Amino acid sequence: MPDQTRLQAALESLAPGRVQSLRVDGERVSVILDATGLSSDGQKALEADAKALLTEHGAGEARVLLTSDRVKRQIIAIASGKGGVGKSTVAANLAIALNRAGRKVGLIDADIYGPSQPKLMNVEGIKPTARQKTLIPVQTSYGVPLLSMGQLVAADQAIAWRGPMAAGALAQLAEGDWGDCDTLVIDLPPGTGDVQLTMIQKYRPTGAVIVSTPQDLALIDARRAIDLFTKAGIPVIGIVENMAGYACPHCGEISDPFGSGGAEAAAKELGLPFLGRIPLAIAIRTASDAGQPPAAGTGPEAAAFIDLAGRVSTWLTDGGRNAADQ
Ligand code: ADP
Repeated sequence: MPDQTRLQAALESLAPGRVQSLRVDGERVSVILDATGLSSDGQKALEADAKALLTEHGAGEARVLLTSDRVKRQIIAIASGKGGVGKSTVAANLAIALNRAGRKVGLIDADIYGPSQPKLMNVEGIKPTARQKTLIPVQTSYGVPLLSMGQLVAADQAIAWRGPMAAGALAQLAEGDWGDCDTLVIDLPPGTGDVQLTMIQKYRPTGAVIVSTPQDLALIDARRAIDLFTKAGIPVIGIVENMAGYACPHCGEISDPFGSGGAEAAAKELGLPFLGRIPLAIAIRTASDAGQPPAAGTGPEAAAFIDLAGRVSTWLTDGGRNAADQ
């Protein structure tokens, strides 16, 4: 006769947090598993794995029932016109700050040109496992699970991905086992290429956050990214100005190496909400390089991201209104 305690432990390690009930009745074993968030392939795989496990433990008759409360997931695309403006930094810290604000957030790093999230989230070198074809996101110390293009291939291969290959990889990330996550933050590659198009057409993000530096040139590029979303009918939640205002670490004087207010002026001109400024701060770069996103800590850098998350969260809750009016 199957041993209830050992079966419970084996099921828990097969499907952590999903075992809702287990009944051993002689040789007949019935189990109810929560399949929330799994794709239909993922559900079939879970059911088959659970049945095999019950049989392995001596069940003559194995009954597996899957239940699911469909989670309505909101997807936030983080985009920029060009690289190097801090899009990945904003994506990681926004995900953490939204999580601190009470959402269940997952992070997808779809930047094929420079997948940097494993480093930023301090899980470099850790590969996600898979159940059948469904990837299981890597847990991070910041409460935000992660799937990254960087986990799928060696870093030097990523740049060669084009068209259908890049789209296929995005699908693997987006259709991972996101469990009870209600919000997915997606770090898109810069520009307006294949990954962005697939993202927009196939997954229909709830909204997009555009990251720009105050420079005019960056803003010209940012406008192209905005245009892509607007034409596809994806609402732009607003523009974030990153690397705005440099505070000298010695005297505290604020200077504006990239100019100031460019993104805010552009947002106004385009009729889009301005979501705030993230200062150019050495502390942001050093903490990011060390895999300690500032949003997880305290201090002014954390506050800037928590502020941003507040605006985005309000927008999501209000169904797309009042991002900048708090
Ligand atoms: P992108 O994703 O747009 O290519 P990253 O997020 O990788 O840009 O940022 C590029 C570099 O700039 C990284 O070294 C990052 O640590 C640094 N960086 C980003 N935002 C800031 C900021 N507000 N202050 C200081 N350094 C920043």
